[in-house]
Amino acid sequence: MKYRLFLIVAILFIQTVVIAQKSDKSNIDEQKEYVAQSSYEVKTYPQKFKSRRPENIILMIGDGMGVTQVYAGLTANKGHLFLENMKAIGFSKTYSASDYITDSAAGGTALSTGVKTYNGAIGVDANGMPLKTVLEYAEEKRMATGLVVTAAINHATPAAFIAHQKSREMYEEIAADFLKTDIDVFIGGGYKYFSERKDGRNLVEELKQKGYSVEQEMRNVAKVKSGKLAGLVASEHLPHAGERKDMLPVSAETAINILSQDKNGFFMMVEGSQIDWGGHENNTSYIAEEMLDFDKAIGKALDFAANDGKTLIVVTADHETGGFSIPGGDIKAGMVSGGFNTGGHTAVMVPVFAYGPGAEEFIGIMENTDVAKQLISFISKK
Ligand code: MG
Ligand code: MG
Ligand code: ZN
Repeated sequence: MKYRLFLIVAILFIQTVVIAQKSDKSNIDEQKEYVAQSSYEVKTYPQKFKSRRPENIILMIGDGMGVTQVYAGLTANKGHLFLENMKAIGFSKTYSASDYITDSAAGGTALSTGVKTYNGAIGVDANGMPLKTVLEYAEEKRMATGLVVTAAINHATPAAFIAHQKSREMYEEIAADFLKTDIDVFIGGGYKYFSERKDGRNLVEELKQKGYSVEQEMRNVAKVKSGKLAGLVASEHLPHAGERKDMLPVSAETAINILSQDKNGFFMMVEGSQIDWGGHENNTSYIAEEMLDFDKAIGKALDFAANDGKTLIVVTADHETGGFSIPGGDIKAGMVSGGFNTGGHTAVMVPVFAYGPGAEEFIGIMENTDVAKQLISFISKK
């Protein structure tokens, strides 16, 4: 009798362990594996342009987007991305002035100013001195300017294009720096840094006084056809792609429609901010969905650039995140099985893709700073 009871208890125990292991495993698989629910059609764009130098520049940064992240997106969309229209391809060395592995602040500053600085720096050099950004060069030439992101608008990457602060953590100071500029369109999150501040300033009112339409709802952002626009559509960061829907492609299109009315041309930076966060989370689905969302925004830029013929698009990253690899997958099924090496950033070179007049300048292995130097050179010669 005692023996039978022991046997039953033992069997129950083993079953519980097996079930626990199974459910544990399926939780992990959900994070490591992405299976496409649908895919979208990718257009092929002409490769003939109307000028030798660009009149307009659209810089697109996939935060944390290494080659593997690109291929995860390509597999998830069953074999194609809009990105494939960009025939000039290179690699960028991302190390910062302080670290072998950069953060988004130093990486953003390298891409915005052409100068390597210390991790954490926003638009300042290794001595903390302000550096002129490509957006500020464009302002000087009276070009229209814009920033479109899915993080808070004062987060490191967009901040590096418009603000000058010793630390990326100085969120309220960075938000205030937006008021010192003549930027025409900015769309992202971060409303609270403009409206609820320790210094008592109400930057939303100040923006309105400067002539901006300040919009908190995406449906209202999409209705703005001209003038200055501050789209602050989340208190802090936007939710992930599945929840925010087509916010990034629609915002990119809205910004292009407004900025392209300027006869002096425009400079715009668009960030796929959360590809990085998928890497930090070691979450393959998060990466794949953010990558596809970013690629749809690239499609919007290509729609305009192909028709305009005088617009250069450069797509690159500030660094890779996660040490992401793809040990398995299936293109026909849109299935990606991911592996990770770290919860942080890595040192590997990141891709550079270019389309339009001047694209050939981005072929080969370059420093991240060379991307900004080339864009600044195009703008300076206008
Ligand atoms: Mg302007
Ligand atoms: Mg970023
Ligand atoms: Zn990161």
